[in-house]
Amino acid sequence: EAITVGDLAKRMGVKAAEVVGRMMKMGMMVTLNQSLDTDDAGIVASEFGFEIERVGFEEEGLLAAHEDSPEEMETRPPVVTIMGHVDHGKTSLLDSIRHADVVSGEAGGITQHIGAYDVHLPNGGQVVFLDTPGHEAFTQMRARGSQVTDVVVLVVAADDGIMEQTKEAISHSKAAGVPIVVAINKIDKPGADPERVRRELSERGLVSESWGGDTITVEVSAKTGQGVEELLEMLQLQSEVLELTANPNKPARGHVLEARLDKGRGPVGTVLVQEGTLKAGDSFVCGTFAGKVRSMLDDRGKPVDLAGPSIPVEVQGFGGVPEAGDEFSVVDSEKVARQIADHRAMKKREAELSAKTKTSLEGFFEKMAEGEVQELKLVVKADVQGSVEALVEALGKLGNDQVKVNVIHAATGAINESDVMLASTSDAIVIGFNVRPMGKVSETAEAERVDIRTYEVIYQVLDEVTAALTGMLAPEF
Ligand code: GDP
Repeated sequence: EAITVGDLAKRMGVKAAEVVGRMMKMGMMVTLNQSLDTDDAGIVASEFGFEIERVGFEEEGLLAAHEDSPEEMETRPPVVTIMGHVDHGKTSLLDSIRHADVVSGEAGGITQHIGAYDVHLPNGGQVVFLDTPGHEAFTQMRARGSQVTDVVVLVVAADDGIMEQTKEAISHSKAAGVPIVVAINKIDKPGADPERVRRELSERGLVSESWGGDTITVEVSAKTGQGVEELLEMLQLQSEVLELTANPNKPARGHVLEARLDKGRGPVGTVLVQEGTLKAGDSFVCGTFAGKVRSMLDDRGKPVDLAGPSIPVEVQGFGGVPEAGDEFSVVDSEKVARQIADHRAMKKREAELSAKTKTSLEGFFEKMAEGEVQELKLVVKADVQGSVEALVEALGKLGNDQVKVNVIHAATGAINESDVMLASTSDAIVIGFNVRPMGKVSETAEAERVDIRTYEVIYQVLDEVTAALTGMLAPEF
């Protein structure tokens, strides 16, 4: 087994530059990403008073590795999350979409809440919807390092237009690199003005196709059902453009969408299969738990034996209740599953002892110097729109050849939970200008280790960010 210089430094809690420097003195010219064998790593470690312990455990080797060949890849349904401002009709639209499902129509429309459902279209296609609308769940999954959404449906009420959470949803989707299809909802209402919505969207960089851009917008009414089928077709179209494929013929991997302890059935969790096919009887590891698939239920509560890519199923047979966002992997045997789970549990305890650090303005230059980052990401909040614009423009100009400043979200208003979660998942810093964190947001920021900086004078913002970019920012005590 090998370890890179950078990893070794991290595990010893020593600055990487220091390790590189020390190794140079020892006559070893190395770069950060260079691998060291156990002997060399041992020598270097001892220089810093550490010992290398061989654990001889390679999780990756045990997780069935499989190189997919192009012939094995098959088209899979898109996985969609609905987002938008409160009361713009996310829940209603989901209901309306459920009614468009031809299969549940036959079965009398009975659906089981498992966190996602699989809509069958009249043309034989399928689209899978995550059942928790809004960007909280989306961001939480991202914060756990998992990305399950292929397309975001952004619901905008035609009588209200783009509002605060609409903007947040756009920023979250963009930060995650997920394409947006816009559902202009409440088109049945007398005050509906879809063109106004398109204009506001274009101001945010989402130029509608009818305006010559490439953002799909569909006018819908969740109330009357108008346009819902077209929306589903557009999602199919978008997924064709994305060329979503997976290899169904291998052991399954996916992520947990939600999990709970069921009185009668023990720990159960909804797994969204992302590649391979999950089968009854499979042994698996999920987070720090091992398990075996005892039974699977689909989104109609019907027992199934198989679940392929993009399909959500409720699985019974976890060794403990996993967390939403945990990765789920089928392995060769129960024994292997237990080995990996035990190893992960140990690692988790280790990690908890040495708390992780996120980007702070003071720590940024070092990360940059170590080659970990090339851009400083910022979430900017200010009291008035004029300040937002001035800051975004001025901050954007601060970058240089080595480093870019990227404002991933900018808006007026107090610093809220969404800002902190966006910063957390994107490793960004929150800049507040004449605004402060509201309510419990400071606590969330602390828990997420997000750096929030508040200012009252524009040049101070620019001074500090410039200083951070050049390594001239003195640590705060
Ligand atoms: P959410 O907060 O985004 O989930 O919004 P809801 O789905 O709860 O909808 C908020 C309100 O708008 C409810 O009173 C719905 O009945 C209403 N509503 C949702 N969609 C439509 C629509 O297409 N037309 C009309 N007229 N009302 C709608």
